[in-house]
Order: sequence, then C-alpha cells, then structure tokens
Amino acid sequence: MELWKNTVEELMMMLSRADVTSEEVYQAYYERINRYDELIRSFLSLQKLTEVKIKPNSIPFAVKDNILVKGRRTTCGSKMLWNYVSPFTATAVEHLQKKNMTMIGKTNLDEFSMGSTTENSSYFPTKNPWDIKRVPGGSSGGSAAAVSAGFVPFALGSDTGGSVRQPAAFCGVVGFKPSYGLVSRNGLVAFASSFDQIGTLTRSVRDAALITEIISGDCHKDSTKKNFKKRYLHQIENKLDNMKFLIIEEMVSGIYNSGIRKRFNDVIDLFKWLGVQIVPVSIPLFSEIYSVYTILTTAEASSNLARYDGLKYGLKVKNEKVLEKQYRDSRDNGFGEEVKSRLFIGTFNLSYKNFQDYYLKAMKIRNKITEEINTLLKSFDAIISPTVLSIPGEIGETQTISRKESYDNNTVPANISGVPAISVPMGMVNNLPTGLQIMTARFSEEKLFQIARTYEKTAGFFEDGHYPYPHMEWFR
Ligand code: GLN
Repeated sequence: MELWKNTVEELMMMLSRADVTSEEVYQAYYERINRYDELIRSFLSLQKLTEVKIKPNSIPFAVKDNILVKGRRTTCGSKMLWNYVSPFTATAVEHLQKKNMTMIGKTNLDEFSMGSTTENSSYFPTKNPWDIKRVPGGSSGGSAAAVSAGFVPFALGSDTGGSVRQPAAFCGVVGFKPSYGLVSRNGLVAFASSFDQIGTLTRSVRDAALITEIISGDCHKDSTKKNFKKRYLHQIENKLDNMKFLIIEEMVSGIYNSGIRKRFNDVIDLFKWLGVQIVPVSIPLFSEIYSVYTILTTAEASSNLARYDGLKYGLKVKNEKVLEKQYRDSRDNGFGEEVKSRLFIGTFNLSYKNFQDYYLKAMKIRNKITEEINTLLKSFDAIISPTVLSIPGEIGETQTISRKESYDNNTVPANISGVPAISVPMGMVNNLPTGLQIMTARFSEEKLFQIARTYEKTAGFFEDGHYPYPHMEWFR
C-alpha cells in the first residue's frame, strides 16, 4: 500500500517499528502534494523537506492559515494579512510539535473563516477532490481537501459555525469540533471568540480521538480553556449499551436532497439494529438559530476585526496625513466583500439604537437554546442528523441566503451551545460524499468518539480498512 494512504495511528506504528523513516513519510506526502495540488489548490504555503527539521517518529500535518506558527506567514485567506508573520506558535500546534510532529504547510480558507465554500479566500478557491467543479465546503476547505486527497494524514481547522464539520462532510473525511473550552484558542485568529474552536480533520475516528488528546493539552493563556486530562482511545471500541439518541425535527425537515434523506434513514436503521433507541423531538426555537448565529458572530467579528487598521496589524495602503483616511483605505483595500458585509451587520447590531433589539435578544435566545440542548442531553446520549442538508454546490454558484442556510443549518447548534460534534462519512450521493453529524453533552468527548467509531466500523464504507480516496487521475 502507498505510504500516504496510512492513518496517523498506522504511521506511528510503522515509524516505531522502523519500517519507514520520518523523512520518507514527509517526502511521500510532499510528492503527492506536488503532483496534485495544482489541481486542488488546498495549500497557501508549503515547507520542503530541506526547510524543516524532522525529528524521529515525526508525522506531517497541515494547519489552516488562521492558526499561528512562529516565523511563518498567517494570512487568514485575506489580503489584509498577506505579509503577516506569526510572532508565536498556537498552543494546539505546540502540543503537536512536542510530539515531534511537523507542519508541512498552511491551508486555504474563506477570508477570516467567513464562508462555507472556500471561495471567499482572497487568493483562489480550493476544489473538491471528488469533483473539481465543486466546492470543498468551508471555511476549512483547504484542510478538508488536503486530508481527502491524501496530501496529509491529518490537518487542523477551526470551527465557528461548522467550518470543520461541513467541509469534512463534503470531502468524505472525519471532522471534529471539540466542546467549547477543550482546546486552547491561543494562537487562533479570532472570528467570533465565544464560538471559535480549533478542530481536527482526519481519516478515521480513532485518529480524531488521538489528535484531540494531544491538542487539548494544558494552556494558561486562554481563560476559557479547561485544563483536564482525558483519554479518548481507551474505551472507544466499547459497545453502545442501552443508548438513546434524539433526532431534532428542525434539523431534518429541511433535507431537500432525497439521496441524503435515504442515507440518513440507513443510519437510523443501523443504530436501531445496534439496539439504540431513537426518539424524534421538535425544538421550535431551532428555526431562529441561523439568525441568532448571524447576529452574534457578526457582532463579535466587528469587534475582533477592529484591530486591522493598517497601523499595528494589516495591510497599510500608504501613509495618510488624516488618520481616519488611513484606517478607511486600509480596511477598504484589505477586506473582501463577505467580510465587509459581516462587519457592517455586526456594527449595526451593536450600535446604541439596535443593541437591545438585536444583540441582547439574540443572546437571550442563545441561552434558551443552550439550556434546552443541555437538558435534552442529560436524558439522551446523542443528537444525530446529516451534517449538511445538501450536497456540495458548483464553484461560482450564487450563494443565496437559503443556500447558505442549507450549508450551515445543522452545524451551527453545536457552536451556539458549546457542545462537541463530529462529522463522519455517511456514504455517497451522486458520487459525492455526505456526512453524519453526532453531538453529545459538553465535555463528553469520550462518548462522542465511541458512538462515532461504532458507526464508522459498522456502516461499511471502508475499502481495505480505510475510507476511499477520490480518483484524481480522472481530472488530469
Ligand atoms: N459557514 C459559517 C459562516 O460562514 C461557519 C464559518 C465557520 O465556522 N468559521 O459563518
């Protein structure tokens, strides 16, 4: 089997037995990137073997370009930060480096993580390795496409409203968003701080658990980070005993692709066959969730992105005598359309006249929804749904509000409430991958991985014990 087809666990085993060297592993992935990434365009920057110091037992990985790695550029997919060099390394990456892992490159994203297709990158769109006319999802589209295409065994992404899970579903890989506060946000460029988490893109649930154990290591620079040691692999193979799952009607009523509906019905049958009790429930407030998400994340973004003024951070157009003009020109030239429109909406919602009617109201609904989810997850083990209501659209398609909603509707609830959520491959529809999403109670990752792993090993989508790879030779 080709070296690049191995999971992280398998590579670790091979390295420890000295079947291969770290250099050979790095080179195998690097060559694959060289051969195919001009087609997929998942990377914004790469490090050659000669540019890195490879330690023993090293595994290469990719990092979304909104996560800092000291001495490397972090562009956030924006012209605003085209030449910004990271002054320090994000805690999550540091934890991987302590395990001798080596970053091979930084991946493309929607500008400042705002989007669901990676078309909002100021540099170029990334293509879906299963069909290069289609989007890979977003905003961590570069990381998902890279793992899907076999360019890296795993990658880091960030997830504010689904940006790890949605592209994972579209690219046929596993995408995991931890509980809010499990992984340090130190070194992750903020979009909406009370929603953002760093997450993983991997080729197996076991790898997701393994990498999460590493990146959730201690950090004292993020006050929202909970420092506790948890092991996620030791009971991951256990059977599901007397479990009860919920299906929230508002997360399935909008499925307008019959293929996805059929795939999801198969999931229900499979879990029932495994002895899981499945109960439908309606949470009417869920129909407000997308508006609540939009109001709150744009508000947080308008405050977080205020720092890009062309002085301390960001593109500096030219030295202007009038400070206001300096700010305006830098921001006007540095930010793209999507970011600008979200900053307008956010600033509007936070303004004195609108604060009560929009921001505060949305906060109240957020708390109410969180309460409902927490209460339900006290008596039920998990909430399941398709990760996305539709299949990946074509590159260049108009992003109507309903299109955006269909992309984000099911992923947003986990960020609103801070619970963990994973997307696992759910089989193909029209030759395109789909994803099953599983959510469990906050900080119950052990159970989440156990359920996801049970599904993964019984669903029957493996070929030679691995998720299938797209045939990129077709596109050459
Ligand atoms: N697609 C969502 C948005 O555009 C989520 C983005 C994210 O998770 N960073 O807001």
